[in-house]
Amino acid sequence: MASKNVPITVAHGDGIGPEIMGATLHILKQAGAQIEIEPIEIGEKIYLRGISAGIEPSSWESLRRTKVFLKAPITTPQGGGFKSLNVTTRKTLGLYANVRPCVSYHPFVETKHPGMDVVIVRENEEDLYAGIEHRQSDEVYQCLKLISRPGSEKIVRYAFEYAVRNGRKKVTCFTKDNIMKFTDGLFHKVFDEVGAEYSGIEKEHWIVDIGAAKLADTPSAFDVIVMPNLYGDILSDVAAQIAGSVGLAGSANIGDQCAMFEAIHGSAPRRAGQNLANPSGLLHGALLMLLHIDQPEVAERIHNAWLKTLEDGVHTYDIFKERVSKQKVGTKEFAQAVVDRLGQKPSTLKAVSYSHAPKQTMAHKAAERTREKKELVGVDVFVDWARRDVAEFGRKAEALNGDGLKLEVVNNRGVQIYPDGFKETFCTDHWRCRFKSAEAGKPVTHEQIIGLLQRFAGAGLDFIKTEHLYTFDGKNGFSE
Ligand code: NAD
Repeated sequence: MASKNVPITVAHGDGIGPEIMGATLHILKQAGAQIEIEPIEIGEKIYLRGISAGIEPSSWESLRRTKVFLKAPITTPQGGGFKSLNVTTRKTLGLYANVRPCVSYHPFVETKHPGMDVVIVRENEEDLYAGIEHRQSDEVYQCLKLISRPGSEKIVRYAFEYAVRNGRKKVTCFTKDNIMKFTDGLFHKVFDEVGAEYSGIEKEHWIVDIGAAKLADTPSAFDVIVMPNLYGDILSDVAAQIAGSVGLAGSANIGDQCAMFEAIHGSAPRRAGQNLANPSGLLHGALLMLLHIDQPEVAERIHNAWLKTLEDGVHTYDIFKERVSKQKVGTKEFAQAVVDRLGQKPSTLKAVSYSHAPKQTMAHKAAERTREKKELVGVDVFVDWARRDVAEFGRKAEALNGDGLKLEVVNNRGVQIYPDGFKETFCTDHWRCRFKSAEAGKPVTHEQIIGLLQRFAGAGLDFIKTEHLYTFDGKNGFSE
């Protein structure tokens, strides 16, 4: 066991936050957690002081020093202009992995899926959450989906390492790479590459739509599931909900240097100040934290005492059911009931057992890659043009041929409309003109593209964006 107290930064949050944090810290203390608490203030009060990030600049100093953050839920004030504190914290501290165990506690908490025990590992920094959005024309808005090789390697490796350290048997990957062949395709490819290093773990890939349906229907088919950001955001809530335990689940946000632990629910303002709230979600976040700071004995004692409390029918209002519950208790009484059961184990529910797992190794670094040979072979020029006359637009674009560049195709929202388009295809004011070298296979230069854009401007065509077409080691780096 660690011999001295580990400093952790604690935010008591808003709404029910202070009550559930009080209860959680009481249990941690009574169980002998070796922690030293550094409180910081975040959330509503800070937002209302005019700090749009919801956190004082000075609080970052504590977070960067302790590198461990136990956070109660906060209230985001109504109205615009407030940034999500969770997104800011994840991005600022590089918390790339969101880990959410979703467990059912049948027959003590109602669920359609007794025996469910799935861990969702969600990529936390990339994908459509990079926050790069633009309005490009009167009718069309864009959000960039960015998936990087190092970002995918980090999260996929984290998922496999998590499986190894926690005795899990299988890692499943969800993507939509039948449609997004480059972005999700990369994530899937990295999953196959990294997975090959973990011979003892079963691996599988599902297209996210049918995978999500299977998860909702038969969660026992899954063990650990790793996903890009958006699918993970949605499906981690679905998984928690179908486990029957949104109010009970905690989550960890892990980075190379820092980590943040929390409940998955919000600040439930209507329940605040009444000693009603269930502290279990935050307590589960705290259990993940204890494992992170290598205090598995304490985590095990608390977790088993908590399972025993649940099993003994000592329930807060949110999970209280006449048939199975024996005693309806408030936040404080629930915490005390857990403390009273420290040292006991559940008899119906499965007791947990944690050990000093070897530190996350991340040892098998992906083989050093040599950068692939990149060649510029063309350009997509996007144009805002309000008229819907395809033939006229095609003629205008064709007239810009020259200086070794030639129009290959015009698309509207990804559909080819010129040449050889269908008159049935609906067009918006957002046109993509693909130019390539007039001489097949000849590379294109930046100067040629600049010249082309000057011809666009000269023709009065409002080009709103360009996207260069590259090959990498001779393979197209762009969709057709
Ligand atoms: P919520 O999770 O706070 O509440 C949803 C429902 O669940 C409510 O009926 C509530 O009473 C109940 N509930 C939630 N936690 C409970 C608990 N521990 N014990 C008993 N019942 C519980 O979601 P909401 O109402 O949509 O959001 C309220 C506020 O929380 C908003 O300001 C939102 O922005 C914020 N929020 C914060 C976080 C966070 O800090 N991580 C996450 C989600 C929502």
